Amino acid sequence: MIQELIPLAGKTTMRIGGTARYFAELTNTEDVEAAYGFAQQERVPLIVLGGGSNTVFADDIIEALVVRIKAENVYVDKNLVQVETGKNLPMFINEMAKQNLDLSPLTGILGSVGGAVFGNAGQGPAGIWIDTYVRNVTVFREGTWETFTKDQCDFSYRESRFKHGPGHAPVIWDVTLELPTRPQADIETDIQTLLMKRIETQPHVKTAGSCFKAVGGTPAWKLIDAAGLRGHTIGGVQIAEKHANFLLNIGEATYADAKGIVDEVKKTVKEPLDVEMRFIENDGSLAY
Ligand SMILES: Cc1cc2nc3c(=O)[nH]c(=O)nc-3n(C[C@H](O)[C@H](O)[C@H](O)COP(=O)(O)OP(=O)(O)OC[C@H]3O[C@@H](n4cnc5c(N)ncnc54)[C@H](O)[C@@H]3O)c2cc1C
Repeated sequence: MIQELIPLAGKTTMRIGGTARYFAELTNTEDVEAAYGFAQQERVPLIVLGGGSNTVFADDIIEALVVRIKAENVYVDKNLVQVETGKNLPMFINEMAKQNLDLSPLTGILGSVGGAVFGNAGQGPAGIWIDTYVRNVTVFREGTWETFTKDQCDFSYRESRFKHGPGHAPVIWDVTLELPTRPQADIETDIQTLLMKRIETQPHVKTAGSCFKAVGGTPAWKLIDAAGLRGHTIGGVQIAEKHANFLLNIGEATYADAKGIVDEVKKTVKEPLDVEMRFIENDGSLAY
């Protein structure tokens, strides 16, 4: 199951990063337990990678076991849906629409269901996030399986309990959602409208989406724009002209380029900005 020296850039939407010392795809709960045991034995961090649409890795070797969840079963019981977290979120939204179940407010968010639960992905600070639908979440952490109710998940804007805590980050394995019912045609119309809006306002190639969290109710792009940084470039990374909170890989971008831009934005913008993207260092720790 464990592979060695696997390139990571191609597994992220921004296409930045080096090589995982160890890599594994996890298809069942036994795989999860085995991966955890391996990481303990090798004394390396266990890093879960979903769709890689909010993550960049350092260049060179990441001294960690990077795992990807490959389980994506979906069990529907009326409007309660249990989904394994390797499921691709855009595909899931479309499949649910065909069953008259409405997840359309999450249209345009790339990546896996697991990544969305981890970071409570969704619309902006005043919009709808995935926690709206969550009933409970099953995770494996520090050798134990646990199921948390929605309240226990401590969701808030781009936050959940899974982002914090001692030891290895948890593997979020499945989530049960309660979805509203609406006619398929109405849901699909909304999906199309939201996709068109995204295409008009956001770049979609070699980016990891929003880099910074909103500050209070103010979107980060407004603050970055006001600081005159729209279009600013360091090496192969540019602050997108189309959306000033999106970083683009416009060439052979390096991890240092991406961090360079983040540091410059943090220094230049007066308001304290929190980094939403995951910057993974060579020892597996987070840069921000
Ligand atoms: C064009 C574009 C538009 C975007 N628009 C939005 C938006 O509107 N709203 C929004 O919130 N985000 C947006 N994003 C960011 C991104 O899509 C979300 O953050 C998404 O939820 C990340 O999912 P992922 O599976 O790709 O996560 P990854 O980037 O793979 O991982 C992100 C974090 O989640 C953790 N993680 C992933 N899966 C699991 C799991 N099963 N168990 C434990 N931890 C896990 C990882 O360890 C990592 O820390 C956008 C990105 C792009 C490229």
